[in-house]
Amino acid sequence: MKHTCPSCHNKIKSTDIKNTNKKGIFFEVECPSCLTWIRLNKTQEIIKAAGISLLLITSLLNIFNIQSEYSSIFSTVGFVGILIAMIITFFGKHEAIK
Ligand SMILES: [Zn+2]
Repeated sequence: MKHTCPSCHNKIKSTDIKNTNKKGIFFEVECPSCLTWIRLNKTQEIIKAAGISLLLITSLLNIFNIQSEYSSIFSTVGFVGILIAMIITFFGKHEAIK
């Protein structure tokens, strides 16, 4: 997963990241080139968390066979959720924390 630093515009390799910080659902990383803390756009981070939650909830419903007549719908919804989360992970916009 490669990102461009919004501050110095260098490519950031995930292996170069030394410092990370987790604040609730928000994940911050320190740019190895300019030492600016960056994070995913807040809205995108929330959508990503929602997508992952969607997968978790629908998977749990399927595991415990709750409303099993809807299990294929749950699977589809869960798949869409994780798909959205993945798209945001790979293509999401990062911003510098001021
Ligand atoms: Zn930077």
